[in-house]
Amino acid sequence: MAEAITPSIERRFAEAIALANIPTLLMVLVQLTGETHWLEEPYTPIRQSGMGDNDSGGLDPRNQAEVREAALEAILAWRAGRPVALPAPSEDTLVKMLSVAMGEPVPEEYGAFTAAQLGQTTFLDHRPFDVPEGYKVVVIGAGVSGLCAAINLQAAGVAFDVIERSPTVGGVWWENTYPGAGVDTPNHLYSFSFAPYDWKQYFCLRDELHGYLEDVSREFDVRKHIRFATTVERIAYQDARQTWSIEIRDADGRAEVLEANVVISAAGLFNPPIEPDIAGLDGWTGEKWHTARWPDGATVDGKRVAIIGNGASCMQTAPAIQDDVESLTIYQRSNHWAAPFEQFGKEVPDAVRFLFRECPIYRAWYRVRLGWTFNDRVHAALHKDPDWDHPDRSLNAQNDAHRAFFTQYVIDELGDKADELLDKVLPTYPPFGKRMLMDNGWYRMLRNPRVELVDDRIERIEANTVITGDGTAREADVLVLATGFDVLRLISTYETIGRSGRTLRDTWEDDNAKAYLGTVVPDFPNFFMLYGPNLQPGHGGSLIFVVEMQVRYIMDMLAKMAALGLGAVEVREEVHARYNDAVDAEHENMVWTHPGMSTYYRNDRGRIVINSPYRNVDFFELTRRVDLDDYVTEPRRGSELLAG
Ligand SMILES: Cc1cc2nc3c(=O)[nH]c(=O)nc-3n(C[C@H](O)[C@H](O)[C@H](O)COP(=O)(O)OP(=O)(O)OC[C@H]3O[C@@H](n4cnc5c(N)ncnc54)[C@H](O)[C@@H]3O)c2cc1C
Repeated sequence: MAEAITPSIERRFAEAIALANIPTLLMVLVQLTGETHWLEEPYTPIRQSGMGDNDSGGLDPRNQAEVREAALEAILAWRAGRPVALPAPSEDTLVKMLSVAMGEPVPEEYGAFTAAQLGQTTFLDHRPFDVPEGYKVVVIGAGVSGLCAAINLQAAGVAFDVIERSPTVGGVWWENTYPGAGVDTPNHLYSFSFAPYDWKQYFCLRDELHGYLEDVSREFDVRKHIRFATTVERIAYQDARQTWSIEIRDADGRAEVLEANVVISAAGLFNPPIEPDIAGLDGWTGEKWHTARWPDGATVDGKRVAIIGNGASCMQTAPAIQDDVESLTIYQRSNHWAAPFEQFGKEVPDAVRFLFRECPIYRAWYRVRLGWTFNDRVHAALHKDPDWDHPDRSLNAQNDAHRAFFTQYVIDELGDKADELLDKVLPTYPPFGKRMLMDNGWYRMLRNPRVELVDDRIERIEANTVITGDGTAREADVLVLATGFDVLRLISTYETIGRSGRTLRDTWEDDNAKAYLGTVVPDFPNFFMLYGPNLQPGHGGSLIFVVEMQVRYIMDMLAKMAALGLGAVEVREEVHARYNDAVDAEHENMVWTHPGMSTYYRNDRGRIVINSPYRNVDFFELTRRVDLDDYVTEPRRGSELLAG
């Protein structure tokens, strides 16, 4: 909408553009002016190394100034009413633009994908469609996934209830309150595509993210459909009625049975917390808790703290508390690669927040660039090279270069402690073999004289003492279990009984979960799961984006069921089997099956259950629309189809 440009608005844009990211500004310029010379020398950014924003793009200062000046003029003209010259660049142009913005060639299949991310094509379908009277969907869980489903169901005009056992929304972002809890994916990417936010930090901590999810649930007005403090205990498919019965129980113990045509499980992956199997743990006489159950108001100030486990939660907690405790002993179970990220802990400057709020094209391109950096960019480097000479330490030449880069980084960070600690902290497995963690001061923390990293196995616990294999006994006041979650047993918080009467647990032989597109399983008609098996982007990136793609697929299915009068849809056995064989075959060539490494991605049989072998762009294509030939379908059986 045209707007008079006041001196104050002009000043605010000028301040913002002075700090803005040059590669992103170039994309804004191309779209606003239609001038493609901004994609040519001398304005082409150099390739960024690492995961930083590459703010200057490596342009010489004169060219940077030119870009900023032209961007200011173009943005002010657009604000004053000049139409966007190139509102929807062609797919070819988008690939060229993204390649320039990243300083490296981006494959051609990213055209449609980028168009969708920029909002040029429908990504999430908010258009209403007609469903039969009484038709109802039940969503289990109100974390990121459940909210995404709820918002789309509401927009489509489909009746639904969400059942959430916690007193509020947010899932892991409500539950995990340990010091330092936060994202390792930047928030301008780790947020819903349909709900941009005025982030205070580039990588926010738990409270800000939880606040965002609370805001989203209110802004989209879905809370009225959520039954909080209510647990789903058991669901069973009723073949004759083509519906699911859903047994729930509220906080006062009152049981109720709901009925729904469709169930969308959004029960999460990172639950329940698990405790290690250590002799004497139950007899610990000091304070003790799991990171995911950090007690409200608990303090570790001035105390001797022991942490068992050094995965993602510990990497966030330990640096956050190191200066408050009397001593901190970390019992390392396996080591991890952790990458530098320059934006950690940094606030988004006010001026840049203004630009994100006021210039949607800038915000969209900033996010698209993050998507490339954090999602798919590294994927090619995660494949094994059968001719590679050093399979003991890396997968291929590029992965070996990553090893050299990260090793040097660790040496630099450990400083004068490098000789003492390097062997302890440096993994022998290739970089990216486990989810790459972000270094929020972990290596520097190890230089703190109060901190001790113990890599000897814990033998047993006696009273308030941890005794390691070499016989050393260390006392502590507080024992923190940073030992993760039972992720391999997906959907373990309620029982799911399929058409044949068999449970999902048995179908999956307990911990060998498989699903077509990580979403549907034969024998479980009209049952869709979000964040199901083989969906985690193990190479990094935002899970929210994956969930949005799943929700888009499910909404397409619901619309098709409604349009065609279908009462039940069940994925075909052979489609499911073919898909999972392909997933397993892909994994055989990827880093997560590298020998000599155990991860939470992989079950005892050695099968990768959690990670996706696919790039986001592949999953985008796979889930773009439902092919009903993949399903056995049944027509709706008349008016006996009732909701509860
Ligand atoms: C500490 C931490 C940091 C993370 N950081 C990142 C990151 O930086 N980037 C990233 O992409 N991902 C990250 N993740 C992964 C994260 O799990 C996902 O990004 C996302 O939040 C998952 O959302 P969800 O809704 O699928 O699951 P959850 O957040 O687990 O929500 C599931 C919900 O279902 C409810 N529920 C479960 N069972 C029942 C039942 N039987 N009855 C009723 N309600 C039930 C739960 O109470 C919960 O509210 C992180 C995870 C953790 C634990």
